[in-house]
Amino acid sequence: MCGVPLTEITRIPVCRTCLAKPGPLEADYFCASCRTPFLNPFSLDDDGRCSLCREGANGFDAAYTYGSFEGELRELIHLLKYARVRTLAKPLAKLLAAALPLDRSFDVVVPMPMHWRKRWVRGFNQAELLAKEIARKRGLPCGMWPENEKPLRRKPG
Ligand SMILES: [Zn+2]
Ligand SMILES: [Zn+2]
Repeated sequence: MCGVPLTEITRIPVCRTCLAKPGPLEADYFCASCRTPFLNPFSLDDDGRCSLCREGANGFDAAYTYGSFEGELRELIHLLKYARVRTLAKPLAKLLAAALPLDRSFDVVVPMPMHWRKRWVRGFNQAELLAKEIARKRGLPCGMWPENEKPLRRKPG
């Protein structure tokens, strides 16, 4: 990623410095449900929720994120998704697992399914690789959505 030749034998074609660069999302104010960062507390209600979550527009109980989709984190995700560097699933899952609160219990980890054609082209579903790692780390089962059942709709764009 940085152009420096790799000096160590590793299955991950990214140097240690680049791999260690993505930092957690930093903001003073977050929505308690969707983790959207805000510059000030005025957009949040007494329960710490943003207006979308307050109105139920987000349609989920809570979302967790490790960092902003930019810089090294964005490059690492692109390497996993598009350059098919599957060995990045483990270090990326580690970051994602660190974003999950330890005091919350979860029943099952389910990856976002991928259209079979896309999966066939890519050879794997990156969400599945991440979900399996996170499930293993937290001692949870890793589930799958039944075929032909759409769990969620992607927002266009
Ligand atoms: Zn590097
Ligand atoms: Zn929210």
